[in-house]
Amino acid sequence: MEWLNQLIIRTMPLVPKSIIRKISSRYIAGETLEDAVRVTKDLMALGGMSTIDVLGEFVTTKEMALHERQMCSIVLDAINENQLESYLSVKPTSLGLGIDFDFAYSNIKMLVEKANSFGLFVRLDMENSPYTDKTFEIFKKLRSEGFQNVGIVIQAYLYRSENDIRKLASYKPSIRLCKGIYRESPSIAIQDKEGIRNNYKKLLQLIFELGLYPAIATHDEVLIKFALEIIQKYNLNRKDYEFQMLLGVREDRRNELLRNGHRLRVYVPFGKDWYGYSTRRLKENPDIAGHIFKALFFKN
Ligand SMILES: Cc1cc2nc3c(=O)[nH]c(=O)nc-3n(C[C@H](O)[C@H](O)[C@H](O)COP(=O)(O)OP(=O)(O)OC[C@H]3O[C@@H](n4cnc5c(N)ncnc54)[C@H](O)[C@@H]3O)c2cc1C
Repeated sequence: MEWLNQLIIRTMPLVPKSIIRKISSRYIAGETLEDAVRVTKDLMALGGMSTIDVLGEFVTTKEMALHERQMCSIVLDAINENQLESYLSVKPTSLGLGIDFDFAYSNIKMLVEKANSFGLFVRLDMENSPYTDKTFEIFKKLRSEGFQNVGIVIQAYLYRSENDIRKLASYKPSIRLCKGIYRESPSIAIQDKEGIRNNYKKLLQLIFELGLYPAIATHDEVLIKFALEIIQKYNLNRKDYEFQMLLGVREDRRNELLRNGHRLRVYVPFGKDWYGYSTRRLKENPDIAGHIFKALFFKN
């Protein structure tokens, strides 16, 4: 079946968008902010939290970036007004990082400033490698301007990540640790599943040893178990870490972690620009071929 999944992944651009949309709907709250608010309230009823993401990335014009900023700003209002257990995640390229550093910085700073006034947090998602240094630069600059309510993401597939954690440790950042989703060259990124897993374990251990706050972002059972072992070994308080998962992925396991008293935050994307995010999620679904066949040949 793996060869079939790979074939489907390579030919995904040929799959009609209507089919992609149908089978990826579980990964997205909906097109509107109300959808993200509703999903967050449902999660809160289970004892969970969310981070809300306005879909959109790699924008090419300043107008698009400003529109994105406006949407993010409205998200902050909604989190504040509805008293949601939530914060904002932003993709720096959606706010103009691919256009101009200073322009993107001023957009992100405006959001971080507003979030700060509400007592809210902003996570800088990490995109592909041309933006790694620039994203850390934005984080450091915000910190140098006194903003503590901003956090970063470290990707376990990058060889540089251990060094990045050590270099950034003095800022005491909140770190979301994930495997990494973009296609990167073997010269800079580990390619095999087991190698990425091993590096993830090493980095998570390092984050705990350095006394930094980890957001353990994975659905991989091996890594969840590893994290739980460390948490038990060091007798960590539930406030010292959180798990993070993506909307629509391993919801049973998510609910089990919540029932067992762990803090867990779900990444809740919403918006009209759903295609890029959806295809990335589908490529990670071990049963992608089955889903596509079902969607193509069965109406429901
Ligand atoms: C909260 C959060 C934020 C993230 N932010 C970033 C970021 O800023 N930058 C970045 O590069 N990456 C980010 N990622 C994505 C991450 O890098 C991985 O690509 C993704 O989480 C899958 O890796 P995994 O650790 O779950 O392991 P995998 O080995 O991919 O998955 C483990 C198991 O989880 C299940 N699973 C995983 N994905 C799916 C799916 N789509 N559908 C159905 N089942 C699935 C399967 O059972 C699979 O065997 C984020 C992930 C999370 C959870």
